[in-house]
Amino acid sequence: QTPVPSDISIARAQVPKEISQLAEEIGLMRAEVNPYGAKKAKISLGAIKRLSACKTGKYVVVAGITPTPLGEGKSTTTYGLAQALAAHKKVNAIACVRQPSQGPTFGLKGGAAGGGYSQVIPMEEFNLHLTGDIHAVTAANNLLAAQLDARVFHEASQTDAALYKRLVPAVKGKRQFSKIQLKRLVKLGIDKTDPDSLTPEEAGRFARLDIDPDTITWVRVVDTNDRFLRGITVGQADTEKNMARKTCFNISVASEVMAVLALAADMKDMKERLGRMVVALDRKGNPVTCDDLGATGALTILMKDALQPTLMQTLEGTPVLVHAGPFANIAHGCSSVVADQLGLKLVGQDGFVVTEAGFGSDIGLEKFCNIKCRSSGLKPDCVVLVTSIRALKMHGGGPQVTPGTPLPKEYLDENIELVTKGLANLQKHIDNGRKFGLPVVVAINVFSSDTPDEIALVKGASLGAGAAAAVACQHWAHGGPGAVDLADAVIKACDQPNNFKLLYPNEMSIEQKLHTIASEIYGADKVELSPEVLAIIDKYNKQGYDKLPLCMAKTHLSLTGDPSIKGAPKGFSLTVRDLIISAGAGFVVSIAGEISRMPGLPTRPAIFDMDIDVDTEEIEGLF
Ligand code: ADP
Repeated sequence: QTPVPSDISIARAQVPKEISQLAEEIGLMRAEVNPYGAKKAKISLGAIKRLSACKTGKYVVVAGITPTPLGEGKSTTTYGLAQALAAHKKVNAIACVRQPSQGPTFGLKGGAAGGGYSQVIPMEEFNLHLTGDIHAVTAANNLLAAQLDARVFHEASQTDAALYKRLVPAVKGKRQFSKIQLKRLVKLGIDKTDPDSLTPEEAGRFARLDIDPDTITWVRVVDTNDRFLRGITVGQADTEKNMARKTCFNISVASEVMAVLALAADMKDMKERLGRMVVALDRKGNPVTCDDLGATGALTILMKDALQPTLMQTLEGTPVLVHAGPFANIAHGCSSVVADQLGLKLVGQDGFVVTEAGFGSDIGLEKFCNIKCRSSGLKPDCVVLVTSIRALKMHGGGPQVTPGTPLPKEYLDENIELVTKGLANLQKHIDNGRKFGLPVVVAINVFSSDTPDEIALVKGASLGAGAAAAVACQHWAHGGPGAVDLADAVIKACDQPNNFKLLYPNEMSIEQKLHTIASEIYGADKVELSPEVLAIIDKYNKQGYDKLPLCMAKTHLSLTGDPSIKGAPKGFSLTVRDLIISAGAGFVVSIAGEISRMPGLPTRPAIFDMDIDVDTEEIEGLF
């Protein structure tokens, strides 16, 4: 239809099929499907086990060039490509995407349901609550925060003996350690299982975590852009006996629990990762973990159902697995390992899983390979690099693009000069994909203002920079049929021999890893580390956290650490301000630039346009 109707009216005009029917079509057994209403269902990981002997399909990762703040259509392309493959090329194809956070949904950017004729439906259910996984992450995270503060509180007023007595009470005259307490004894090197056999010194060491409140790094989370929670004081009631402490909230999707959910291989692995999460240091400087606080079992219970991916569908009735949504700056920004694994088994040897990696190749793709694939052992077959003419014009020196305001005219009229100047950014991202040994298919996501000459220019430059193919796609305006050429290019690229490789081995030192990512992927020639960061590196070397991959927390709006610098600069310096251990997720976060873990609402957030018809319960204003 011309003009293309609004996302919500397109989504609403399509009646989704019953989710049980879709589940049956893609080969799931009834017992593996746990419907949440009629349009979405959680899928048991038992299906992965059942299909373990089957060959897996091709693994396609969708990344992008450095975007404008509006987004360049990665999600839209993920759905469009999956629609083209499954509904038009008639091969098995599943899209794997992240669950959107309420932050962007109610803030500025909107959800991540795609757009135009390439969407996941029902978009209201996708964007709001879904099957409660983010709520489960919030609950698990905050239970640990509550247990942590409570433990500090209880330790403050009790002797070692009294603490031990309360932590290991006698039941019917007999004391017994719980399973998690036995684990703590092993960690402390106390080779005893009878609670009455510990010496007073051992009992004290066992009972007193001796947490230094100034070192607490575990913070509470909520899935709302709530800037007034960026700095708060807890423990101000009289009952906490003046133990007030300054802290903050993060947005739920920035929680390590979310990263754990996204990277866990199965329930056992998720439990172990949750147990390893570091919350603070003791007064001797040793890390205190979720296991030490005895909370691992409880957190795993809260996360049990969240570990199952949710099955939904595109506008063309093809399958989508929605699962996990870690922040792409502070965490690794990819949907879950288990959803990809499930998808790869379900599509079978001749099928395709199209999975999305957040933001540009410097953020999403780098972490998809070095963190997610390193952890899962899965090997991608090709990169789809989404690019838009408007982003290239921005990189070529076009005026600033601001969400919520009309695009300046440079972006609406043909401007070969700006596109030409902006090509360096695209070329750098093509180069990045090739550094991982993967064929790169450039998907030019066509907007109505793009001209044939602009598109031809981008195609030629992409091939010149080593892309396997460059295709103009019209899936936003035409759905799956608009991405058939892209599907053909992807099928061809996946048949090419590929020598996927990680950028660095875990054994490299933290400094070397920082330097490798900054120089190879961003184009920097120098990494600056403050004395504080060097001291943290020294500490991590001693604690054994130096053999983990790095998760770079960097702006997605530039290849450098400064969001205002566009294009593909060379020879700049990247400043790393801080390092944080995410031992459960299994990476060290290195903070380059200002990264907010709690976004705020703008003056005019999307909230103003939202409404619900109280009679029909129809929702308005989601996008
Ligand atoms: P990303 O995943 O890269 O952040 P999205 O796929 O979410 O980007 O798209 C960002 C916004 O742009 C969405 O509102 C989407 O509907 C819109 N959009 C995407 N592609 C097009 C297009 N070709 N023409 C017009 N609008 C588009």
